[in-house]
Amino acid sequence: MRIDILTLFPDMCRAVFHESIVGRAIDKGLLEVYAHDIRDYTLDKHNRVDDTPYGGGMGMLMQAQPIYDCWRALCAELGKRPHLIYLSPQGKTLTQARAKELSQTDGFALLCGHYEGVDERVLEEIVDEEISLGDYVLTGGELPALVLTDCVARMVPGVLPNEEAFSQESHYDGLLEHPQYTKPYEWNGKTVPEVLISGHHANIEKWKREQSLLRTYQRRPELLDCAELTKTDLEFLEKVKKP
Ligand code: SAM
Repeated sequence: MRIDILTLFPDMCRAVFHESIVGRAIDKGLLEVYAHDIRDYTLDKHNRVDDTPYGGGMGMLMQAQPIYDCWRALCAELGKRPHLIYLSPQGKTLTQARAKELSQTDGFALLCGHYEGVDERVLEEIVDEEISLGDYVLTGGELPALVLTDCVARMVPGVLPNEEAFSQESHYDGLLEHPQYTKPYEWNGKTVPEVLISGHHANIEKWKREQSLLRTYQRRPELLDCAELTKTDLEFLEKVKKP
């Protein structure tokens, strides 16, 4: 998979590429990530890439020309038009499901805005999708681009030891994960739930599923509306909901 990030702050992105799971995926040759400096494409003699908004208002806007030319250079390099995602607080909120779909493609490109944002005309021209990290505003699209890259990279086949490593985590099947414990058995006067040391595989799986349902019900009940639930799950939830 190849991910291309169009940004005014390529070093901010590159600093993260070589760390953690994304770094390992790159080292293993499973992932290529490139940061392209939009400023390299400005035609302004003072290297400017932004200007004041028409109609007034605070701050500066990224201009269309450098972004468009950066994107065209990328299209030429790839020999095709990549699926371009603009990181934006106005986009659809990132979900595990969308990240999973993206992890099954051969790649995509990410456009990071900065300052007050980007001239709308270039967005209309080149952007295929807008993704938001959530209902709040950040300074730039670089952190969201890195979050999206990380979230997608860990689901690329071969990056984690097996699919179980991510398919049993929160949000993958629409539920939150059950609580987890490690050694020692007793810490600060608290012990581990007995079932987990029973060695009884079926009981352990039942406990994990029920804890996952319980957590989701207690912390994010709205997720249950979309999760795939079995008859046994529904019966368990009915019992939990009884006062
Ligand atoms: N003026 C824009 C608005 O009100 O919609 C916000 C611009 S924001 C200060 C600058 C850049 O940060 C955006 O162009 C976008 O790339 C990025 N950004 C900010 N918040 C974000 C979020 N919640 N999700 C994804 N990207 C975000």
